[in-house]
Amino acid sequence: MKKSIECPFQKVFPSQLEKGDLFFMQLAYNEAVNAWTRDEVPVGAVIAMGEEVVASAFNQTRTQSDPSAHAEMIAITMAAKSVGDWRLNDCRLYVTKEPCPMCAGATVMSRLGEVHFAVDDPKMGGLGGATSLHELPFSNHKPKVFRQTMELECREMLQAFFKLQRKST
Ligand SMILES: [Zn+2]
Repeated sequence: MKKSIECPFQKVFPSQLEKGDLFFMQLAYNEAVNAWTRDEVPVGAVIAMGEEVVASAFNQTRTQSDPSAHAEMIAITMAAKSVGDWRLNDCRLYVTKEPCPMCAGATVMSRLGEVHFAVDDPKMGGLGGATSLHELPFSNHKPKVFRQTMELECREMLQAFFKLQRKST
């Protein structure tokens, strides 16, 4: 068993005055902190519709012993339930790391309108990093992809997590 490492990052307090991309990514960042405090790889996701948050989740792969329990997958299921429609065309996903191919595929299948992610993943990213599932030539849905909101903060958290984890083993 690996020793758990206390999360050295604090949650942020997003200003309620301007509910733009930064606001929602800050909420996703806070979900990543929640993941870390539960010993999970710190990835957080938020789905917004207009100015409203319809889903908010963090990675739970270890807690649930479920390789599909990524933050984005949990958030997409929650959002579909909350909206009452499996089609999420009017929704935007904010996630602290580029979605893997499974989650990128789910953003296509759920017809998410926009995906915003903070940190690129050249090894396993499914939205431009390693492969581009949002640009499949014959796909009937292509989510719009935006990157780099809060990139530095989210990258710092992920790097610190893996560094400390390596030290503790
Ligand atoms: Zn994933």
